[in-house]
Amino acid sequence: MFTPLQQFCDRLLLRSACRLCQRPATEILCLDCGRQLQACAQPRQWQSYGVTVWAWGDYAGLLRRALQQVKFDRDRELAQALGQCLADSLIDWPRSPQLQLVPIPIARDRYQQRGFNQAEVIASAVAAAQGWPCNRRSLRRLQATQALHGLSAEARRQEVAGVFDWQASRQSGEIWLVDDILTTGATLREATQTIRANGDRVRGWLLLSQTPALEGLNADKGSATILKLKKQRHPCRDSSVGRAED
Ligand SMILES: [Zn+2]
Repeated sequence: MFTPLQQFCDRLLLRSACRLCQRPATEILCLDCGRQLQACAQPRQWQSYGVTVWAWGDYAGLLRRALQQVKFDRDRELAQALGQCLADSLIDWPRSPQLQLVPIPIARDRYQQRGFNQAEVIASAVAAAQGWPCNRRSLRRLQATQALHGLSAEARRQEVAGVFDWQASRQSGEIWLVDDILTTGATLREATQTIRANGDRVRGWLLLSQTPALEGLNADKGSATILKLKKQRHPCRDSSVGRAED
């Protein structure tokens, strides 16, 4: 608990609470949470379903908590911060004029409830940082699905069958689908299949997180490459996520 005097000083200095621990911070995360989030960066890359899968970190610890807060507390700024973390890990990617990011759309009622699509916010942050186009229009979700959490892989596959529509653009180029969490991959496979059925090629899936058990499900044993990162920028320093005070 903070004293009334501390609260008054915080208001005076325009300090707000860290989104993850509620301690005072001048930006959305305090220094400590920024460091912990930075430690979640363990990018992996592997091949699955004919595409390159690239995931920034495990869906665990602070990253899991942050993603839950994005969804359940409708925290768009935190989603942007996570997208910035992902973008910072991609600075060495080769520039390709053909590349475009396509976020996985959410159902209309969820969009109205939340006010944003977290995959779109993450994709936009990456697109802005990398100078890649973000295509929000071509892939549409035709119908809502029940929450996939708790369903078996087969039930997930059946639930998402036929939910997407792809309006091919003239220059589809090298498509990378973007999502916040990769679990069994049912949603991303369905989107990939829909795009392929319309004559376009999906080059890869770009994920903020993957569930820890995923490699066993989707990749041949031992085929996932753990990527070494160059020193990352602290999410609370030198980036749009901002500076924090403890
Ligand atoms: Zn914090």
